[in-house]
Amino acid sequence: MTQVLGLTFNAFQENMYLVYDNTGECVIFDPGCNSVAEENTLAEIIESKGLKPVRLINTHCHLDHVFGNHFVAEKYGLVLEIHKGEVPVLESVPRVCKTYGIPMMHQSPDAGRFIEAGETIEFGESKLEVLFTPGHSPASLSFYCAEAAFVIAGDVLFMQSIGRTDLPGGNMDTLLRSIREQIFPLGDDVKVFPGHGPATTVGYEKLNNPFLS
Ligand SMILES: [Zn+2]
Ligand SMILES: [Zn+2]
Repeated sequence: MTQVLGLTFNAFQENMYLVYDNTGECVIFDPGCNSVAEENTLAEIIESKGLKPVRLINTHCHLDHVFGNHFVAEKYGLVLEIHKGEVPVLESVPRVCKTYGIPMMHQSPDAGRFIEAGETIEFGESKLEVLFTPGHSPASLSFYCAEAAFVIAGDVLFMQSIGRTDLPGGNMDTLLRSIREQIFPLGDDVKVFPGHGPATTVGYEKLNNPFLS
C-alpha cells in the first residue's frame, strides 16, 4: 500500500511529503527544509523508516517548496523533476528571497527532467497520476494515487481555503477551474494532502470550502 508521511518545515510552515510503499522506495515532494536541524530531521526519518529516495519532485516552485531541493538532490543523488512551466518561478527564487530578506541555505539545482501533465510517476509498486492544476502558480501539478485514494495537491487546495492567486502567474478563475475539473472528480473519499495546514478530503471541501461551495 502506498503511504504518505508529512513533515512541516521552514518559516512558511510548508508541508513536504514522503510517499512510499512496502518496497521502501520513496518519492520526496517539495522538501522545505531550510536549516541544518530540518535537514537532519528529514534524513533521520528517511533512515529510521528504511526508505530509499528515488525521485525528487516539486508540485510548484515557490520558495517555501524548494528550500531543501539542494540537500535532497546531493544527499540522495536525485535530479529535480518539475513541470516546464515552473522554470521561471524556480529561477525567481533567489531574487525573491533577497527582496524579502528571507535567508536560504542553498540555491535549488535546475530541473533535470520535466514532468508532463497526464504522465504516471512510478516507483516501487506505486503509481501516481500527474494532474495539471495551475492557478496558484503557472504550472502547479497534483499527484493522485488511485490505489490509496489520496492526492498531493501542493498549494492548490487547503482545508477550507485555496492557494493565493496574487503571485506572478496566479489566476483565481484558473485555480477554481483546476480544483473543480481536476481535484473534485477524484471522489469524495479522496484524501487531500496540501502544502500548508492539515490534510482534508475532497468531500469535506465540496461541502465546507467557502471558495468552492
Ligand atoms: Zn505556493
Ligand atoms: Zn506554499
